[in-house]
Amino acid sequence: MKAVAVFPASKEVKLIERVDPAITRPDQVKLRMLDVGICGTDKEICTFAYGSPPQGESYLVIGHEALGEVVEVGTDVRGLAPGDLVVPTVRRPCPHARCRPCRAGRQDFCETGDFLEHGIKGAHGYLAEYVVDDARYMNLVPRDLRHVAVLVEPLTIAEKAEAQLYGLMQRRPPWIDPAATERMIGKGHNALILGAGPVGLLGAMALLSAGFKTWVYSRGREPDPRIDVARRIGATYLSTEDVPVSQLSTHIGPIDLVYEAVGHSLLAFEVLRELGPNGIYVLTGVPDKQTLIEADPSALFRELVLKNQVVLGTVNAGPQAFAAAIADLQTFHLRWPDAVSALMDERTPIDRAIQRILDRPARIKSIISFPSRE
Ligand code: BGC
Repeated sequence: MKAVAVFPASKEVKLIERVDPAITRPDQVKLRMLDVGICGTDKEICTFAYGSPPQGESYLVIGHEALGEVVEVGTDVRGLAPGDLVVPTVRRPCPHARCRPCRAGRQDFCETGDFLEHGIKGAHGYLAEYVVDDARYMNLVPRDLRHVAVLVEPLTIAEKAEAQLYGLMQRRPPWIDPAATERMIGKGHNALILGAGPVGLLGAMALLSAGFKTWVYSRGREPDPRIDVARRIGATYLSTEDVPVSQLSTHIGPIDLVYEAVGHSLLAFEVLRELGPNGIYVLTGVPDKQTLIEADPSALFRELVLKNQVVLGTVNAGPQAFAAAIADLQTFHLRWPDAVSALMDERTPIDRAIQRILDRPARIKSIISFPSRE
């Protein structure tokens, strides 16, 4: 079968042939992969700036935003059957007894750093025709999400962040109506999304659904399909070319929440200065090496203290975030069908995957798909 792999030592990205995997344990499932989304992390792995092969191996099969169809189940597997659609959990627990989050099934909070991430760190990913994996890490997806479920994994970023926010916001007395449910935490608050890529726009859908008045701030002016998506879902788009960072609060009012989804550390840093009183700043992008700047930490920390601000880093995602993403994607798909479809580019077959990844336009989601071999 075909798979896409990076060879870090020889700095190559290749379409390789591997033997079809077979179930070797009763708790495994075999998947035929349907769609794999490509994100900035994949591009970094393919330029050898990030990622690592499984121990003792020379290459890493990439791909972590995946949708597969179950074709076979091990004898102990319950609740999954051939024909089911699943999205695999990317991160898997470290082996250490002392790591309480991993032992509690919350490997997204792993304390040792020895977790594995399929397609990223120490474990092969899903950009392959077939995959065998642990059934317990498969998240069942309803059939009607077949064409959009590749967005589940990137949506878990917003879901994890939202769950964290809920806890934080409940502890800020004037912020949240005590009667507000977890789904309506944003009522009466302003949220600013940095970045209009798929993670930013899915984040905008999540925050709008949670009641936030939402702005999206990014490079680029109209015409741009990302700006259309932002508008269609009811967010206000601001271009960095028209509105300098220092003017953001003039347009928005107090910025109660920033949801950073670009991995651009300089922009993220500048916007931090604009965060409003009691504001929460959520960082989700994983920046690569960028320009060094001079900064005045005392001014920044003074503001953080005097304005009760919170800066929160968050990485996806535990089982709850996958469940929430599947439920929310269904809601978004009903509420904004065109906007959800517009997040995704045409499918590219696996034979042309490498070019697609390396050329990847940072605009809408590139998806690699697998023609059926039957
Ligand atoms: C993936 C996460 C992963 C993170 C850091 C992201 O692109 O979606 O699953 O934890 O990269 O490796």
